[in-house]
Amino acid sequence: MSSLNRISRRQVLLSMAAAGLGAPFARRVVAEEEAAAKGARELQLIAPESRPRYPAQRTADGVIQPARPLPTLEETDVLVVGGGSAGVAAAVAAARAGVRTTLIERYGFFGGLWSGGMVLLVMGTHALVDGQLRRTLRGIGGELLNRLANMDGAILNHADDRANPTSDPEATKIAMDELVTEAGVRVLFHCWATDVVMDGDRPCGVVVDGKSGRHAVLGKVLVDATGDGDVFAAAGAEHEQRLHAIGLVHRLGNVDRADHEELKKAGITNLGGLTPHPSVRWVNLRGPSSNALDVRELTRLEIEHRRTIWKRVQTLRSKPGGESLVLLDTAPQLGVRISRILAGVETLTRADANRSRRFPNTIGVGGADNGRGPEWPIPYGVLVPKKLDGLLAAGRCVSVDEKLIESMRLIAACLVTGHAAGAAAALAVKDHCEPRQVDISKLQALLREQGAYLG
Ligand SMILES: Cc1cc2nc3c(=O)[nH]c(=O)nc-3n(C[C@H](O)[C@H](O)[C@H](O)COP(=O)(O)OP(=O)(O)OC[C@H]3O[C@@H](n4cnc5c(N)ncnc54)[C@H](O)[C@@H]3O)c2cc1C
Repeated sequence: MSSLNRISRRQVLLSMAAAGLGAPFARRVVAEEEAAAKGARELQLIAPESRPRYPAQRTADGVIQPARPLPTLEETDVLVVGGGSAGVAAAVAAARAGVRTTLIERYGFFGGLWSGGMVLLVMGTHALVDGQLRRTLRGIGGELLNRLANMDGAILNHADDRANPTSDPEATKIAMDELVTEAGVRVLFHCWATDVVMDGDRPCGVVVDGKSGRHAVLGKVLVDATGDGDVFAAAGAEHEQRLHAIGLVHRLGNVDRADHEELKKAGITNLGGLTPHPSVRWVNLRGPSSNALDVRELTRLEIEHRRTIWKRVQTLRSKPGGESLVLLDTAPQLGVRISRILAGVETLTRADANRSRRFPNTIGVGGADNGRGPEWPIPYGVLVPKKLDGLLAAGRCVSVDEKLIESMRLIAACLVTGHAAGAAAALAVKDHCEPRQVDISKLQALLREQGAYLG
């Protein structure tokens, strides 16, 4: 038995607390363990929840869902659906602007593809302006990266004169938890938004399904940050749907113990992207162009990609020099690049971006994919549906042409549009107007106040 095994969990937690490492957490766990040791029961019997039942009925015409009243789980001012990079930035911006904000996420953590998809390289953070590298990702997105830089082992290559850092997924989740809770955002994890609640033609909430059953969550202004446009599609906003490569990222461990010279002789020169940990690499898998809104297809890809990855790592392990490599994990979230794209009141094009076209209603600036191209201002209209009121889009589903999709879906741009959507939604609530009527000069002033870069 190793000496570590002989130390009890309680002793480890107590020494963590003494060292100030996760002290509040460690103290709480120790207190819970002490209570348990004194006989508090872990397996308490409680009365089964009784909920009204409205089961769907199988009929000759198919399965029919009867009309049913929906209890309201929460009522808020700004309702952000989807806790990826765009949704987190949106929720923090709205809450800091002083309105009640709720953020709904289907999984149990924030970050979406950035953390859950293990897409660890944050691209598009900088651009070349007058021959100089300039940070375009500022505001809440920039703050997140700075926060990661203050955590041990959380980020690599984060500096003003360096584009595109790489973050650790667990650190990203924690930094987002902190940012969101400190801003006073109310969070609902484990809630899938499966439909919208309409007030006439205007969405005023979403229907969520989860372990608590089915509920309504109501908001004065909605931000669709689901990446797939689930909310604006359900509300009837005009949009297009695309197929794109769907992959699955994995991480390779023990890379520092591999014999890279030997592997090179076997033709293996690339073990994946660097991470903050020398022993770990993240490995992208492009995958086939497919329909991200088809659960059968998503299921097939999960199984097929996992198998491909396992085989790939086994092959690496069979090579001289690669014996110690291990498959650390596959991402808990499939790598969906694009599905729905909003038809906005404005559509930003690659041609606009290439010539750094200026707009009177700029709400943020995109950076170059590799940090070596021009900056590209983003107009407010890409977040605003052509006709639908009460809602803004943010993240990888905003209104761009086919050629700009590859840049707009990068994490930095998603953080930028998320920040702007949250700030605009908050202003719409405060000024009792629709998002399309938001006073642009007020919005730009608020964004600047919140540290955003508008060119
Ligand atoms: C394989 C792959 C590699 C990539 N490589 C890079 C790269 O190297 N660098 C880079 O910058 N970008 C890269 N990207 C793109 C980038 O990761 C994403 O486009 C970006 O993270 C999207 O952010 P988002 O917030 O718009 O959406 P998402 O990250 O998809 O977030 C959406 C969130 O909403 C939640 N959600 C969705 N539907 C619902 C619902 N109905 N109800 C409740 N919650 C819901 C999701 O769980 C998720 O948390 C890559 C993407 C993929 C797939």
